[in-house]
Amino acid sequence: MDIFRRKNKIVVPVIKGNGENVKVRCNGCGRLIEYEELKKNFKVCPYCGYHFRMSAAENIALLSDKGTFEEIGEPIHSVDVLNFTDTVPYKERLKKIKEVAKVPNAILIGKSKIQSMETALGVFSFEFLSGTLGAATGERLTEIIEFAQKNKLPLVVVFSSAGERIQESIFSLLQVAKVISAIEQYKNSGGLFVSILANPVLGGVASIAMAGNIIIAEKNSYIGLSGPRISEQVMKKALSKEAQKAENLLKAGMIDAICERHKLKECVGFILKSYNRWAI
Ligand SMILES: [Zn+2]
Repeated sequence: MDIFRRKNKIVVPVIKGNGENVKVRCNGCGRLIEYEELKKNFKVCPYCGYHFRMSAAENIALLSDKGTFEEIGEPIHSVDVLNFTDTVPYKERLKKIKEVAKVPNAILIGKSKIQSMETALGVFSFEFLSGTLGAATGERLTEIIEFAQKNKLPLVVVFSSAGERIQESIFSLLQVAKVISAIEQYKNSGGLFVSILANPVLGGVASIAMAGNIIIAEKNSYIGLSGPRISEQVMKKALSKEAQKAENLLKAGMIDAICERHKLKECVGFILKSYNRWAI
């Protein structure tokens, strides 16, 4: 069973019995943790506080009041417009990932309640091609922003993305302009956009996330133009491990807060309740 695997830092799951008593090794402290215990603890290491990545469904469950999330609109599937092939034809890559991730593109959007507050919620799905911003994802993200504006709802988006999707080239790049334009219209109409940065948020998706009225990052999340490997190749020197971490961005005044995962719902709920006094 392949639960957590990273290219450079290997996180090895240890399996005992018939899929029971699964243990995973923490990427932060290296200790083995019972997978069930990890799940109960919002996928945060009980020893060192390392935040394991959450799926879109897990983030929705984390933030939403039980059973309140309702997907809106029709699913939009990512397609291969450019007939692109890298190591694998993009069409094949999409077919496989749709089977594994069980989502049509890299975002889920819907209406939800967070601590009883009606909210328009978008959650990136990192499990779908690293949450990259293809045309379908950009379209759905725009849809939830427009939905929030039309229904006078606060907008909460959980970002977790490796940036633009290279296989969709210019169609991916165009999404940033489209989404930012929709956000501006929404904000100008008095809407509140709460941006949540979950590890990692890179490239053009980080640009979108930075447009939040309030920007909250998860502990230790990596936020920047590109991942450390690419940054090092370009700069020809190693970046410090902390260079593009949320903690550094907070010190520089680029984000508003860092919130531990188990307090995130309470924190967002507090913001939404404060905003409720401010009619849009
Ligand atoms: Zn740990």
